Amino acid sequence: MALNLYNTFTRRKEEFKPIESGKVGMYTCGPTVYAPAHLGNYRAYMFEDILRRYLIFKGYEVTQVMNLTDIDDKTIRDSNAKGITLSEHTQPFKEKFFRDIDRLHIQRAEHYPAATEHINEMVELVKALQENGHAYESGGSIYFKISSFPDYGKLSHMKLDELKAGARIDSDEYEKDTASDFALWKSWSDEDGNAFWETDIGKGRPGWHIECSAMSMKYLGPTFDIHTGGIDNMFPHHENEIAQSEGANKVKFVNYWLHCAHLIVEGTKMAKSAGNYFTIQDLVDKGTNLSAVRYLLLATHYRQQLNFTFEALEAAKNAITRLRDFRDSLDNVSGDTANPDIETIAKKALDKFENSMDDDLNISPALAAVYDFIKDINVARETKPLSQADDNVVAETLKRFDIVLGVIYVEEESIDSEIEELIEKRLQARKDKDFAEADRIRDQLNEMGIILEDSASGTRWKRKL
Ligand code: AMP
Ligand code: ZN
Repeated sequence: MALNLYNTFTRRKEEFKPIESGKVGMYTCGPTVYAPAHLGNYRAYMFEDILRRYLIFKGYEVTQVMNLTDIDDKTIRDSNAKGITLSEHTQPFKEKFFRDIDRLHIQRAEHYPAATEHINEMVELVKALQENGHAYESGGSIYFKISSFPDYGKLSHMKLDELKAGARIDSDEYEKDTASDFALWKSWSDEDGNAFWETDIGKGRPGWHIECSAMSMKYLGPTFDIHTGGIDNMFPHHENEIAQSEGANKVKFVNYWLHCAHLIVEGTKMAKSAGNYFTIQDLVDKGTNLSAVRYLLLATHYRQQLNFTFEALEAAKNAITRLRDFRDSLDNVSGDTANPDIETIAKKALDKFENSMDDDLNISPALAAVYDFIKDINVARETKPLSQADDNVVAETLKRFDIVLGVIYVEEESIDSEIEELIEKRLQARKDKDFAEADRIRDQLNEMGIILEDSASGTRWKRKL
């Protein structure tokens, strides 16, 4: 079955054909580490995680590169406002980012290059653009001359003759109607404080866009398979990346461009500047289960806007409970012969899952395939209990879905050993007939959000979701 992806470049779904058979090179614009990433950012990282996991599910070897933007207008602005160095300011946000992606079970990329560690590569790239006639100097800064690149606008579908010839823009972020020559290298000014490098092209610092061109080509080569980001990155960021990379290398930059729609709150994009945002820690502090957050973020198709509400989060919790209760029910094996229907049900479900995901990661019917599978297995085992062989087939199928979903067979952030210890103590207290102590421990676990289920075969526990 062939994977089809919607390529923003052509505005069509296209069959995915990697440059090198069996391998995928993928670049994803990472966080600007001037503040903790918010749930809107994680919508983008979750879409990229689902894409990555599905490519792995299909058998590809994935090399994913996600940059860390640790120098740009915003990181400089905020570090100077606090009177600390750039790295003192960005380091805690880098650490928070890695903690959050682990908690959300977003798989780690193969490379996380930081912009400040690739200044030489950026300088070399600016020099190559100067040599190729795409860049010029003005007031110590160096700009990309968009009129020198006739293809400028091909991703965002802008017409070059609509642009203001000769106008220059210094800020990293700007709207389409102010599109003009943009800064590759910004000469040092007082506002930059200690954020500068002394280089062959002067004392200064890179513009935001050149960072991604330099780091993607370093790790993935001049042409690679997939480039992703949120839709707000399409212009000017990705448009400028194309101009810089193709202007320097004279070969096609990226074969497939994928962009996700925004996560919105009451009709407005979740953004730090809008003040309508939650960080992952905010949600943890409210007692939210992060697998439910993961489920919420992955369950809406990536090209549809995702409206964040606490009701939707509640529904996501219920979905997770259903999946995990089914997982836990699988240990009860009492049949002794295999039921051929089980294989058939599993195959049908996996085919539907894969066919749906092949269609531009169409997650809704893929999830429906998972729930149909659970329903069909439950019906089948009512008439004939599962044998060990059946049980293995069911568990393997569920694990295969979970390669992509990452919510069924995952370890929650581990306070597990502490819980196990308390359960042991409670058992001992019961054996010693110290029921007051046993009840006290049960209450303590309850406070921690843990529910105990006692049965003849022992005590099991689960989290209140
Ligand atoms: P930034 O740290 O602002 O450079 O953003 C990092 C990533 O998050 C980029 O791919 C953005 O497009 C994406 N992003 C930012 N806000 C949202 C949002 N509300 N919904 C979806 N993606 C977003
Ligand atoms: Zn980028």
